[in-house]
Amino acid sequence: MVRRRLGRRTGADVGERERIACRAIFCFVGADPATEWLTGVELDEDGFVLTGPALPFQTSMPGVFAAGDVRAGSMKRVAAAVGEGASAVASVHVVLGRRVEGPAT
Ligand SMILES: Cc1cc2nc3c(=O)[nH]c(=O)nc-3n(C[C@H](O)[C@H](O)[C@H](O)COP(=O)(O)OP(=O)(O)OC[C@H]3O[C@@H](n4cnc5c(N)ncnc54)[C@H](O)[C@@H]3O)c2cc1C
Repeated sequence: MVRRRLGRRTGADVGERERIACRAIFCFVGADPATEWLTGVELDEDGFVLTGPALPFQTSMPGVFAAGDVRAGSMKRVAAAVGEGASAVASVHVVLGRRVEGPAT
């Protein structure tokens, strides 16, 4: 049993069955974002958190950031998630600087 989502075939709990001719199968689980609780922040249609363009990795809520798999458009790889987290720190510093010094005039 398969489920189609974004052109991929994933999980299997929607009651649909189809037979697929193939020589091998790779199972990929755990890729759905757990963002149901996240209110006030814009998500894409699949529940991933939208970021930018005002500041890299900043969500639609100023001062709130997202990095890694939960971020819409991210690479969904360990190295990318670590790099995004490190890069997001620069944006955090910008926001903290504005709060301490006030906006540039
Ligand atoms: C089956 C599978 C195989 C993979 N294989 C590879 C691979 O071979 N190579 C590779 O580079 N990448 C692989 N990945 C992707 C890799 O695991 C992710 O890119 C990486 O873990 C993303 O890191 P992250 O910190 O963004 O998210 P996660 O590692 O998913 O960390 C998010 C954490 O937040 C926690 N969390 C969620 N909601 C809440 C909440 N409300 N409050 C508190 N905590 C919360 C979760 O429990 C989790 O611990 C694979 C992923 C899967 C699912």
